[in-house]
Amino acid sequence: MRYFGQFGGQFIPETLVYAVNELEREFNVAWKDKKFRKHLDYYLRQYAGRPTPLYYAENLSKYLNISKIYLKREDLAHTGSHKINNTIGQLLLAKRLNKKRVIAETGAGQHGVATATAAALFGLKCDVYMGAVDVERQQQNVSRMELLGARVIPVKSGSQTLKDAINEALRDWVTNVHDTYYVLGSVVGPHPYPTMVRNFQSVIGLETKRQILKLENCLPDYLIACVGGGSNSIGLFHPFYNNRTVKFIGVEAGGLGLASGKHSASLAEGTVGILHGTKSYVLQNKDGQICETHSVAPGLDYPGVGPEHSFYKDSGRAEYVAVTDREAIGAFHMLSESEGILPALESAHAIAYLKKIAHKLKKPDIIVVCLSGRGDKDLEIVRKFR
Ligand SMILES: *Cc1c(COP(=O)(O)O)cnc(C)c1O
Repeated sequence: MRYFGQFGGQFIPETLVYAVNELEREFNVAWKDKKFRKHLDYYLRQYAGRPTPLYYAENLSKYLNISKIYLKREDLAHTGSHKINNTIGQLLLAKRLNKKRVIAETGAGQHGVATATAAALFGLKCDVYMGAVDVERQQQNVSRMELLGARVIPVKSGSQTLKDAINEALRDWVTNVHDTYYVLGSVVGPHPYPTMVRNFQSVIGLETKRQILKLENCLPDYLIACVGGGSNSIGLFHPFYNNRTVKFIGVEAGGLGLASGKHSASLAEGTVGILHGTKSYVLQNKDGQICETHSVAPGLDYPGVGPEHSFYKDSGRAEYVAVTDREAIGAFHMLSESEGILPALESAHAIAYLKKIAHKLKKPDIIVVCLSGRGDKDLEIVRKFR
């Protein structure tokens, strides 16, 4: 499917049409190929550590006076977040397409690390584009990528952050399309990426469904996840799409507050536009220039969002809310102290929203929150936050 309602599509230069079509064809064949799926499943289990637990957070539930909160523990996957689900899948595709080199963009470095990891595993050359500002801010992940054998290329154009890194990766892809595969890190970009990355991340929701039925013998009332580009959330939501009693809540980065203009809440505050090859809600000015974004969580700091989320928003299938930097930091401490789990600051946004809905719940509700990653990468930010 190229479109989700009016959203999605392929708004790309003609020089990329061949590569994108080749990718779409190969993905469609691979996804139906039992051998490919078995291979993927093998690496997800034996290498990435799946299935990840669905953990009943009893202390947090009691603390918030919510009947039952379950955490889907993507923080326990190899490299510390859900990103590995996607990069293993895409690297297997790159191998099928006989590509010798992969490129990726990265903001905080999580997707870069997951790509460099899978590239090391499957023996492909790996170049990662990263905004120069982010290279400075995220030295530890730069080192991790380099130790994994990848080359990190600092991007000095624009705001020198994630969106500029994507521009540069797309430029590289246009030039080297014959031997290079572009590993996109979320459910954004031109078709087939939003569908493909969603399918790779759907393992989160498929496992959750199996696990909650076994534990509770019923489906959850709410699924809650943070939304940057939207891959961990759509991965959790999508397998429940037809289960209409299950409510979806996506939590965006409210930064310093929506009124301040310093946030990354594309669904709450954006308008329909085109960014990085796809039509979706975008933070742009009235001339269509992309806005600077802000979030304390580096992985949420992106001015666009996956087109399928825009469709969920307009059709009312999901509700999208925002929480501020301060609320996310509060949730970081709350989860750390109540459960002994340091969450990624991205995931802390989803946790923070629990506090806000606690008083609205009527019956003994079951809530699943996607704990998209672990917080070790964010200790410096938390320590310095005031
Ligand atoms: C990258 C990242 C996110 C945001 O990306 P999505 O595509 O919205 O999932 C969220 N949590 C963690 C831990 C991340 O690394």
